[in-house]
Amino acid sequence: MDGSVQLEMRFGASNYAPMPVTIVRGKGVYLWDESGRRYIDMMGAYSAASFGHCHPRLVQALTDQAQQLDTISRAYFNDRLGAFLGRACTLTGMDLALPMNSGAEAVETALKAARKWAYTVKGVAADSAEIIVCDGNFHGRTIAIVGFSSVPQYRDGFGPFPAGFKSVPFGDAAALRAAITPNTAAFLVEPIQGEGGINVPPPGYLAEVARICREHNVLLICDEIQSGLGRTGRLLACQHDGVTPDAVTLGKALGGGLLPVSLFLARREVMQVFTPGDHGSTFGGNPIAAAVGLAALDTLIEEKLIERSARLGVHLLARLRAIRNPIIREVRGRGLFVGVELNRDCASAAAVATRLLRVGVLTKDTHRNTVRFAPPLTIEESQIDWAVDRVAEVLDEFARVEAHH
Ligand SMILES: *Cc1c(COP(=O)(O)O)cnc(C)c1O
Repeated sequence: MDGSVQLEMRFGASNYAPMPVTIVRGKGVYLWDESGRRYIDMMGAYSAASFGHCHPRLVQALTDQAQQLDTISRAYFNDRLGAFLGRACTLTGMDLALPMNSGAEAVETALKAARKWAYTVKGVAADSAEIIVCDGNFHGRTIAIVGFSSVPQYRDGFGPFPAGFKSVPFGDAAALRAAITPNTAAFLVEPIQGEGGINVPPPGYLAEVARICREHNVLLICDEIQSGLGRTGRLLACQHDGVTPDAVTLGKALGGGLLPVSLFLARREVMQVFTPGDHGSTFGGNPIAAAVGLAALDTLIEEKLIERSARLGVHLLARLRAIRNPIIREVRGRGLFVGVELNRDCASAAAVATRLLRVGVLTKDTHRNTVRFAPPLTIEESQIDWAVDRVAEVLDEFARVEAHH
């Protein structure tokens, strides 16, 4: 164990249990540890590293801006924010955007907007707005957000939680319909659940949900923090269903892997509920974040990473599905966003991820005993093949051990 890890274990809170590797350098899809060993990053920092590590154009945007103007707060205009927000709105088809930093803050912004919209536009009685979410959701770690999580560990010990949230099964449009009341402000949903296990809903689910929301004057808010920006092979995952939501949250890849940059984007009618002083963030929309965010969006389009994700995602899914191994329960995903669920009584996804680390493939387990794959969208087909070969070998090892039992 090197000095840094010892210091982290000594002085750091234990809210993570990192895998046994210390990364010191990154370039493209590769990461290196302190002994110079190279790994392929099939995890992509939970989809924050969509452009590969230390993308030259993004690093340039960051360093250029850092030498020109840093944070000045939103008390003044800066000369970078407008272009970033404009580009984000044009690309997503939204009218207005509000910049924050972390994903959780963008979701909090969405919750505040939905509630105020319910009171000031829809006419819901004061303090009685309801927001419907899905079982298995992941929207971040604030008190309000974990309050409507269905994962006991995320909630236990952190109550009391804000009222006004209900949860329905993911992928079940009829359950949403049944849960809506005159007080319902919004339905908040991940088009594909990421942390929940890379859960892909039935075809047409989101389109049906959009119809139901429109019928009942309920806002449809898609949390695209993980699924957006090309991850699933479309700019937004909701576009697979031809849906334009009332509002969208973006984060993770929006900061190019360099900075926390998030956005809440919405139709004018929703965003106009915010007036000066209602909501804000010291660092949100700072010139460096805006410069990097704009460069990230431009890079996504100019390098055709969305198309690349669609094409290579088909390949990744096909290669993983071609692995014949009784340990595999299901392979699911869309674009370069794929989960391999393992039979719980055969192998734990965490153990498989640890073994993959040993053979040079970085990934991570998530809920439903699933190994997640969300590599940088810049990955090459041959790199995918190399990684999938390692996955097949490691699963074979686990199957052989299992067969001896
Ligand atoms: C990661 C994630 C968040 C939270 O983002 P942070 O930057 O960690 O706060 C919110 N929603 C979804 C769908 C996510 O995947």
